[in-house]
Amino acid sequence: MYGSSYFDDRISVPESLTMDLTKGEAIGTVLISAECGRAVLVKAGDPVFIGQKLSEGDNEEAVFASLSGTVTSVTVSDKATYIEIKNDGVGKTDPECAPFGKKLKDSTPEDIIGIAGRAGIRECMTGEYLHRKLRGISSGTDSIVIDCIGKNPFLPIPGIIARERSASLINGIKILIVATGARKAYIIAGDGSDRMLDHLKELAGRAGFVRVLEQKNGMTEYPHAVTDKMIRKLTSDSAGRYAVFGPEACLDIYKAFSSGIPCVSKSLTVGGDCVKRASNITVPLGTRIKELLKISGLNKKPSRIIVGDPLTGRSMTGPDETVTIATEAVYILSDEVSFASTPGACIRCGKCADICANGVIPVYIVRQAAHDRPPLITYGAENCTECGMCSYVCPCGIDIVGKIRRVKERL
Ligand code: SF4
Ligand code: SF4
Repeated sequence: MYGSSYFDDRISVPESLTMDLTKGEAIGTVLISAECGRAVLVKAGDPVFIGQKLSEGDNEEAVFASLSGTVTSVTVSDKATYIEIKNDGVGKTDPECAPFGKKLKDSTPEDIIGIAGRAGIRECMTGEYLHRKLRGISSGTDSIVIDCIGKNPFLPIPGIIARERSASLINGIKILIVATGARKAYIIAGDGSDRMLDHLKELAGRAGFVRVLEQKNGMTEYPHAVTDKMIRKLTSDSAGRYAVFGPEACLDIYKAFSSGIPCVSKSLTVGGDCVKRASNITVPLGTRIKELLKISGLNKKPSRIIVGDPLTGRSMTGPDETVTIATEAVYILSDEVSFASTPGACIRCGKCADICANGVIPVYIVRQAAHDRPPLITYGAENCTECGMCSYVCPCGIDIVGKIRRVKERL
């Protein structure tokens, strides 16, 4: 089941990063999963530190402790090995974590790709490993584009990073410039007042090769992640060949380069009409979502817990579901927040196809979702980024994104 809840003014969205829970005692335990068959380097009873390698295969399959404390269990299942760590509240970092040994000006693209691989950095939006993405970027890339817009107003973290983590963001961009060989960078930021982006603009101006571009949508319009059309327009067609990165990847590569600490935390939004304290928080990877509920407090009985934003997210899968690099938000909703779904009521107005920036024709895919066989014609389903625009504009309130996901699973 997918989010499919209309935007609703009962859902408040905080605009600042309010809490860092990666240290201290707020999070009791984390559950880290390692790919099945990979060597596990710890056993129950072992002490561990933040950033310590828990399991390894190739570089990209390494997983790390996100808390300091004691391993309480190592459980092997068909799908994965689960390592539970009890927090000691001390927040000690693994002594093996150390800054990269060279200055950035002396570093090569291969150096940066190696750092990204060893740190296990992934793009939040796609889950793609950063070192693989960097390897796939061909020489001759003119610019890099940092997407600080986020998919919609209920996923505010990318914009918050632009406003509140400006220095780390710019430092991460400098590292990605070395890795890609690009000559310039564009940060595309969404709404937010000009004043809120002042610091970022000042730092970008000092760096010289970074420009901050604003895509003004207004909160009444449902924004989309950056598109080629948007990039061409905002850069007056000067982006040339470009590669897009998320802002969290910039922070993570800067952290790995400057301190050697791998990717062990995630910033996300906890909101919804059932929470007492809506917040944007940074938590260790592997934090159970039910712990977030305790931290935010509940003011009424929830009927849905949506992982992702209210419209395009999906229902929480179970009590042990944890925060991963892809967890952008958790919304805890009551029945008072209206569902968007009214199955089977398509009036063929075509609005979903008109709004799609990726050339998908959702109106036809909606019909395919009723069957359980692979579709003969995909109508562009493979290009769907699950932005939710089509569901948002559909006058019949059809859960179009949910239906497209079901079709994509069968491609
Ligand atoms: S079809 Fe996919 S990419 Fe197109 S508007 Fe819908 S969710 Fe977005
Ligand atoms: S917007 Fe909704 S009603 Fe209109 S064609 Fe698309 S699915 Fe059908």
